[in-house]
Amino acid sequence: MARTFYVTTPIYYPDSDLHIGHAYTTVAADAIARWHRLHGAKTFFLTGTDEHAQKIERRARERGQEPAEFVAEMAARIRRLWDRLEIDYDDFIRTSEPRHQRVVQEIFERVYRQGDIYKAHYRGWYCTPCETFWLERRLEEGCCPDCRRQVEFLEEEAYFFRLSGYAGRLLEHIEANPDFIQPPSRRNEMVSFIRGGLEDLCVSRTTLTWGVPVPFDPRHVVYVWFDALTNYLSALGYGSADPADQERYETFWPADLHLVGKEIVRFHAIIWPIILMAAGIPLPRKVYGHGWLILKEGKISKSTGNVIDPLVLVDRYGVDAVRYYLLREIPFGADGQYSEEALVARTDADLANDIGNLLSRTTAMIERFTGGRIPPPGTGDRVLADAAADAREECTRAMDGLQLSVALGAILGAARRGNKYIEEQAPWELAKAGATARLDSVLYDLAELQRVLAVLLKPFLVQASAVIWEQLGVGDITVATHQDLEWGRLVAGTPIKRGKPLFPRIVSKGADR
Ligand SMILES: [Zn+2]
Repeated sequence: MARTFYVTTPIYYPDSDLHIGHAYTTVAADAIARWHRLHGAKTFFLTGTDEHAQKIERRARERGQEPAEFVAEMAARIRRLWDRLEIDYDDFIRTSEPRHQRVVQEIFERVYRQGDIYKAHYRGWYCTPCETFWLERRLEEGCCPDCRRQVEFLEEEAYFFRLSGYAGRLLEHIEANPDFIQPPSRRNEMVSFIRGGLEDLCVSRTTLTWGVPVPFDPRHVVYVWFDALTNYLSALGYGSADPADQERYETFWPADLHLVGKEIVRFHAIIWPIILMAAGIPLPRKVYGHGWLILKEGKISKSTGNVIDPLVLVDRYGVDAVRYYLLREIPFGADGQYSEEALVARTDADLANDIGNLLSRTTAMIERFTGGRIPPPGTGDRVLADAAADAREECTRAMDGLQLSVALGAILGAARRGNKYIEEQAPWELAKAGATARLDSVLYDLAELQRVLAVLLKPFLVQASAVIWEQLGVGDITVATHQDLEWGRLVAGTPIKRGKPLFPRIVSKGADR
């Protein structure tokens, strides 16, 4: 049976346009999904929108729209953003869809029937913008500890989920499965949070109408957790009578990777596994909480209004430059500072100088010295063959540990080795001296190195990798597999198609930033 891989992003609130922070998570998930597809895994990549929230209902009414109409428009805008960033997802789940609501109701009712959901009165502090209830002791100077806004005191009848009863089982699971919460710093945070004691969770509201009704008590609407987190199951067709759904669920659950920002690790590493335990469903294999992009002014956040529009960046620099910058600049898992200057510097140094230059120098020399055709390979040194093999190995090890920046660094290192090899071998001198066999060998190896590196780059640089293959005359990279990483597949005599520079330098173009 083929290896399978199921990766998810969080579902995003469609209350306003998404910013570079959402793009960061989604581009990373896309690169990871593409990497697994390239390596022959049957892969399912899920993203979507979390559409039931009080603030969404409010935003819709402010605009004179029904919530359903508003979220449909916003979800379409989000899908257009993902199209521009070439996010190749397999499904886009919207929590207002009937296929999702059925699963929410089924799981809510099942957990209720077996006794882990009970009715009580909720009394407590509530932050409306964050849609979060807070215990008095977690407030900071009487305000929401997340957004620092005023909280209000609420009292209402509500259903509660018995989170407290599962702390021991969850700790055992985390201990027995060291990979379950990653990176280790996040695991340590979660372990101490659980040890601090879990409070039962309010999981229904009577003051909302925009949401999934509690099936056995329709005055109540399912509140946040059971609605949002279950998207990872409903998109697979969990509990459906349709054989295609059943097969998809059997194939892909449990999820291999829930990729989330570190601010929502707690929901995915504590609440979600406990919901699954209570419902008798296997737990996901890994929750990975990546770090934040920080602006000089602080954390990027919709509620504080300092956002960067990824569409503007794609228009200005191209999709590959944006994808590359996001995945290369910041060690995955850590926080890092975002700046447009750094994006430009990365693009010019790594993409234009190293990768782009290598291609244009190589194709220029093949045109000039071997009639525009790939020369026959030689039996000379193995410098570039070894560089390609090392890059492949390092890249694979890095991707296994979700170290996307390290993976890209390995590819870049091999491209730099290629440029250095040109200086060392000085093919123009070989041509002058009539050392034809040596010249052929050098040019073949340079072209072959880039054919292999393009395959490694394919999950990250979706356009440039295709252009490298085109210019080398190799063909369509969309059908490439991991078998194309083998050295020596480039066929002598293939005509190259020299083209425009892969990444024109931004700064020398006279841009003002
Ligand atoms: Zn708040």
